Amino acid sequence: MKQIIAIVVLALSTAGASFFGWKQMGSSHKAAEQITELTAKVDAATKKQAAAEEELAASEEAVPPLQLQAQELAAVKAALSSGATLKDLEAAYAKDKKLSTERQLGLAGVRLLTNGSKDPGTVEAFQKALEMTDWKGQKNVICAAQNALAAAGEKVKVMSECAADGAPAKAGKADAHGAPAKDAHGAPAKDAHGAPAKDAHGAPAKGKDAHGAPAKDAHAAAAPHAVHWEYEGAMGPENWGKEFPTCGKGKSQSPLNIKGPFEKVRFNVAPDYKPGPLKILNNGHTIQVNVAPGSKLRIDGKPFELLQFHFHRPSEEHIDGKPSAMVIHFVHKNEAGELAVLGVLLKEGNENPGLKTLWAHAPAKEGPEVTPNGVVFNPANLLPRELEFYSYDGSLTTPPCTEKVKFFILKTQINVSKEQVTEFPFKMNARPVQAQNGRPILTN
Ligand SMILES: [Zn+2]
Repeated sequence: MKQIIAIVVLALSTAGASFFGWKQMGSSHKAAEQITELTAKVDAATKKQAAAEEELAASEEAVPPLQLQAQELAAVKAALSSGATLKDLEAAYAKDKKLSTERQLGLAGVRLLTNGSKDPGTVEAFQKALEMTDWKGQKNVICAAQNALAAAGEKVKVMSECAADGAPAKAGKADAHGAPAKDAHGAPAKDAHGAPAKDAHGAPAKGKDAHGAPAKDAHAAAAPHAVHWEYEGAMGPENWGKEFPTCGKGKSQSPLNIKGPFEKVRFNVAPDYKPGPLKILNNGHTIQVNVAPGSKLRIDGKPFELLQFHFHRPSEEHIDGKPSAMVIHFVHKNEAGELAVLGVLLKEGNENPGLKTLWAHAPAKEGPEVTPNGVVFNPANLLPRELEFYSYDGSLTTPPCTEKVKFFILKTQINVSKEQVTEFPFKMNARPVQAQNGRPILTN
């Protein structure tokens, strides 16, 4: 699902980027050179797309805001609104007898941005892109086109392979920005976002929350729902691998049962979290707090930006075979796009003042992020003083279970009262512990 949105947004961004590149070249260049330039850009963007998709797969847990992405798209859209761009692009492409599939899709993207999804020219361009693709090599293009057409209300059969990533959105459905959407099984759609984005620091990022209208437009063009998964039953962890292969086949999965022997390391982790306006949501799997840029975790001196934190009950990590009452996962990402999770275990004891604030504003039912007026929260309130950790190489603990996520589980647990555990709206949202497969567990 995220993939589809990503592809469409990327197609649109690519089209926009191509346009800007082309305009800047000026009229003195020959059309052929311009087209060569455009082609190179589209190719580069296509490669970026593949990388972005991989990253996007990780976005279930990694969720930064998309403001900048929205702004970029808005800028592209504003530039396109006159229609002159589209004309120029069409004129340039008219000289080509046959467009590549990517360029055809890019053209469709510019038409979509200029004329909207209902425009016959947009639909035709997507149709054409669809006809041009060969299924095996260009599944992504096909799915993007199919979903975009379906979202535009065209009668198009969305192949099951595309539907597996996300079936087309139906009219009137909202994503997590708006009212909760229901999927075909009547279950709430979980993660409706995932467009690639840059965060405020320019690091590539992605997420669930696009706050800008242009991103919504992109969703409107293709906002399919997510594949449904749960913590129990037929869609439970034992079966995640059917829809999300890494969950089943991965050899570095999280969580782990943490037990010795441990390997001693010399580096430390140093959180530098800052207070900010509370942004909290119930995404159907957990309570999550999205964090504005500026809060960091330094791992061996290297900065990772805190994106969000969320809760599991009971704790996913076991220590010597035993879970704790709950765990908080602080999800971070560095400029290279690497993910690191800091886990803080909660043991039953006194009431936790930080949690008290959060629980007062946590939506009981799945829905969009809420930003209660005037509530400021500092994630540092949920950290113990001692920062000794266990560390291992793991994965996201929710589908798609993407690997290469560094885990740091703090040895010191913080308190949570029995009542506070019961107040958490999910009775059980912990993935079982996974095979260690020879992975070392480090400690500082
Ligand atoms: Zn988690």
